[in-house]
Amino acid sequence: MIKNRIVFGNYTDYRFTMTKAQGSYIWDDAGKKLLDFASGWNVTNLGWNNPEVNEAFIQQARKNVYASMWAPDKIQEDYAAAILAEYPGVDVAIRTTGGTEANEVAVKLARASTGRTKIIGFKDTYHGQLFASMALGYIPDYVRAIQPLVPDFVQMDYPAATPGDVAKDAQTLADFKTQLETILAAKDVAAIFVEPGIVTGWGACKMAPSGFVELVRELTTQYGTLMVVDEVGTGFSRTGTLFGIDRFKVTPDIATFAKAVTNGAGGLGAVLTRAELVEKTISEANYTSTFGWMPTACAAALATLAIHKRDKVWENAATLGDKFIETLRTELSPLGAVVRGMGLEVCVDLAAVPGVASSIVRNVEQTCKDNGLAIVTGDDGYDLQLMPPCNISAQDLDFGTSVLVDAIKEATKN
Ligand code: PMP
Repeated sequence: MIKNRIVFGNYTDYRFTMTKAQGSYIWDDAGKKLLDFASGWNVTNLGWNNPEVNEAFIQQARKNVYASMWAPDKIQEDYAAAILAEYPGVDVAIRTTGGTEANEVAVKLARASTGRTKIIGFKDTYHGQLFASMALGYIPDYVRAIQPLVPDFVQMDYPAATPGDVAKDAQTLADFKTQLETILAAKDVAAIFVEPGIVTGWGACKMAPSGFVELVRELTTQYGTLMVVDEVGTGFSRTGTLFGIDRFKVTPDIATFAKAVTNGAGGLGAVLTRAELVEKTISEANYTSTFGWMPTACAAALATLAIHKRDKVWENAATLGDKFIETLRTELSPLGAVVRGMGLEVCVDLAAVPGVASSIVRNVEQTCKDNGLAIVTGDDGYDLQLMPPCNISAQDLDFGTSVLVDAIKEATKN
């Protein structure tokens, strides 16, 4: 039964209305203060209502809020210059309003520039809510009611790593290599979409074995397929580097990002790529967007990027993330929980804990909330995806970790 008036996908039966948000904290409608371990799902990486970002937005709103495609505002050009300088191998940006649109545009760019139609994605990954982006990761069972999706999408099984089992990971990667090469060898694949070594969009933080990103680059180059990296979740310090790709010596052909780009102060997404690919396709692929890169969103995005760089926010995410994962493993592995992640993108998977029901995550979520911590749970019912603000203090992270660990111990007690 739909209880609330706004449709929020699977979260339509929403838990509470937020009445205030500042830094690492949000307040519910009863005035209760909660430490936030979700960051709006990788959006408010610099904490809620970051004063510098919001001020940049307000200043721009005083000057100009809109610009047309044939007469852009200078701040749009300033943002393009700033962001392109941070990403390897790219020299142009295509404007979008969010992550779904960015990935849909990337599909068009890949098909038009290669003259091929096939696109590879991975099962149980999230790249957006429209037809091509769903075709990348949603298995047919989940999308029966809206079939047909876009044709010529191939979904591979994700080569998920097993934490601590190096030999198994080597075999997983070798098997994946054989499967990918078999598909690519037909030379009819336009592009493969990957997140840089981790799956952030599906609530489970699956990690690929080391060597995966490099292998995808090597094989795509060999067979003339474009490599698209979805940075919507991994971008802006989340996984311990400014962008997820910075952990690797790899240059993709296309990158997409959104979410934390404005720290929540405006809808903005982008496709970054080489000018040569856009030149080939500009008259065929329709790269227009009426609201792409609103000047106010660009002002927020410029301020967001400047703060990440000035404060090296990714270093906090890397250092505290390592400690967070280590503490969770020490406390929760003995129960049978599996902890995966990178930087401050972390999942506690309770599926292997003896005797737990899939409703357990809701109990953990409620106990955490009662004790002052807001978390969000993944769709499969066993995963807790933890995404604290990337600039969280060590003290706040310690407090949240202890609330979470106690809640999980309580919920799994026989
Ligand atoms: N890619 C990933 C990895 C995501 O997590 C999401 C959103 N959860 C998207 C794309 C889609 O972005 P948006 O919701 O802005 O359309």
